[in-house]
Amino acid sequence: MNNEDLVAELLRWNYVKSERVKEAFLAVDRKNFIPEKYRDKAYYDDPLPIGYNQTISAPSMVATMLELLEIEEKDKILEIGTGSGYNACLLAALGERVITIERIPQLRDFAKKNMEKCEYREKVLVLLGDGSEGYEAEAPYDKIIVTCGAPDIPDSLIKQLKDGGRLVIPVGGTFFQELYVVEKEGEKIKKRVWGDVAFVPMIGKHGHRWA
Ligand code: SAM
Repeated sequence: MNNEDLVAELLRWNYVKSERVKEAFLAVDRKNFIPEKYRDKAYYDDPLPIGYNQTISAPSMVATMLELLEIEEKDKILEIGTGSGYNACLLAALGERVITIERIPQLRDFAKKNMEKCEYREKVLVLLGDGSEGYEAEAPYDKIIVTCGAPDIPDSLIKQLKDGGRLVIPVGGTFFQELYVVEKEGEKIKKRVWGDVAFVPMIGKHGHRWA
């Protein structure tokens, strides 16, 4: 199997729906974001360990979230949970600028190293810190994506979203959550649940307190 086979499967099962998301998946090879030990499984639709009790999400989950975000070329995007850097590179293939935050220093380094092979790396700023507070310095954002499970939708993230912006976030417990799509329309916040998901927990001030 290769990356093109993976994209073909994502299309076949309708996880990838749009031409733009398809092109992004073709441009970013998942193998470059997988630890050596699991590289033979890079093109399976499975989450895989990346160390420190964290995972790179299954490609179908990544595709679902990217389609829900409806990213446009000029978008500035905030990602909470850099992990391997795979999703950050896909975001960079779709938008204009990406700020991604990781709380574990070794994973921040892992992602930066993996991203050396990403042709869109110049568009990505990788930060170390508690992403549950967002990143005020570059706000507001057109799109925010959270790739770890939060107990609630942090106010900080809503505040940092542009009017007309969109946030995709898993909300719930430390094992299972519901995936929310949140839209900001002036003072109004529209929320809908896409479905059930399972992410590692968001740990931080507006996240869970323990791993
Ligand atoms: N997007 C990643 C990728 O493409 O590989 C996968 C992310 S992994 C499922 C979730 C990540 O969120 C982990 O790396 C974890 O350390 C990180 N995380 C958890 N709480 C966080 C927080 N408060 N701020 C930033 N990152 C956090």
